[in-house]
Amino acid sequence: MVHPPQNSCAAPREDHALSVTEAQQRILDIITPVSERETVTLHDSLGRISAHAIRAPLKVPPYDNSAMDGYALRGGDLPAEDQRELRVTGTAMAGAPFTGRVKSGECVRIMTGGLIPEGCDTVVMQEKVVRRDDSIVIGPGHTPGEHVRHAGEDIAQHDSVIAAGKRLGPADLGVLASLGFVQCEVLRRPRVAFFSTGDELRPVGEPLASGCHYDSNRYTLYGLLQQLGVSVIDLGIVPDQRDALRETLLRAAAQADIVITSGGVSVGEADFVRDSLGAVGEIHFWRVGMKPGRPFAFGRINQAWFFGLPGNPVSAMVAFLQFVQPALRRLMGEHRTQAYHLNVPCATALKKSPGRTEFQRGILQTDASGRSVVRSTGAQGSAILSSMSKANCFIVLPADCGDLPAGSLVDVQLFTLL
Ligand code: AMP
Ligand code: MG
Repeated sequence: MVHPPQNSCAAPREDHALSVTEAQQRILDIITPVSERETVTLHDSLGRISAHAIRAPLKVPPYDNSAMDGYALRGGDLPAEDQRELRVTGTAMAGAPFTGRVKSGECVRIMTGGLIPEGCDTVVMQEKVVRRDDSIVIGPGHTPGEHVRHAGEDIAQHDSVIAAGKRLGPADLGVLASLGFVQCEVLRRPRVAFFSTGDELRPVGEPLASGCHYDSNRYTLYGLLQQLGVSVIDLGIVPDQRDALRETLLRAAAQADIVITSGGVSVGEADFVRDSLGAVGEIHFWRVGMKPGRPFAFGRINQAWFFGLPGNPVSAMVAFLQFVQPALRRLMGEHRTQAYHLNVPCATALKKSPGRTEFQRGILQTDASGRSVVRSTGAQGSAILSSMSKANCFIVLPADCGDLPAGSLVDVQLFTLL
């Protein structure tokens, strides 16, 4: 249960800030999916977005077949009581059907997946019969029709098997293969250009001078974008200079559907990203009542959408996952844009000041009694990137919520792309 704020004076209200859901909605309302399609092989369709609903050109399974190793026979020959002896007249293996017709008083040895021979409608498991030389003896207790998988029981011909806008997973590749598809039509991958800003940033592979640190955001962003399945264009590190920022923003917008920057969106003395965006494009909004994840800016540069992420590594990831990921999923044409949420007890006490929605880092796990619980990763600073590395979910605490005791029910947002 979420407790009321302990001390509502602790958080000054920000009148201009949008709530997280308002900001998400504004972004989703304005972005329309790509329409260009491409045909890819089944292998290459993994993780891509289906361009249209796919119907089954044939049924699966294509023929009635055995679900067990045993004997195929006519249901009418099953004994109601006592026993019955049937003559074994042949064998039906998977891929090597029995070609004759089975008459009353006969049966055929059949293996799992074997085509049900003509005349038969039932399979009796081999463990349930006594085999004699060229016959079997069956007792009572069987049901006509048992252990037969019927043609089309998985997928009927003309069934719609994959919806438009579905992110294709391993089972979808299998379903498409079971229907004989060699390729399928997917939506094109959006292109996303990104760069880091900051005079203190050094690329990995170079020595660190005093006051400098490595640029980690470009690697995190690369991972997040690659995982989503977009085309990435890494434009490196850009210094905190207006001209360089404007030039790079324009160059990025000319080659991408979405431009992402990290750092420099604050109001510090070297935070020129928002200024530069104002000069080459337009800012739609930049104040969102969340923590971490600020400052964040959303706007447009010519034909490209712009997302200015905060520099702090956790803030950058939180803003990406709350705003850029749903936006990209929409742009990719995926019908689902939002992450999955669960309601679970939190095993640790949580500190929070009322005022902003918080995305604390959590580890969702199973306790000794098999119940799902979440626990905090510990220190929640916006520069503690290891908290994201340990976490598998966000513990989402609503704006008005204050400190929570251990055992409180909390809303958990999963990281996995489902
Ligand atoms: P800024 O938003 O530019 O004021 O940056 C806020 C903090 O995030 C500063 O401590 C920056 O050094 C840090 N930071 C900015 N960009 C990156 C980056 N690409 N990788 C790691 N840390 C960064
Ligand atoms: Mg900076």
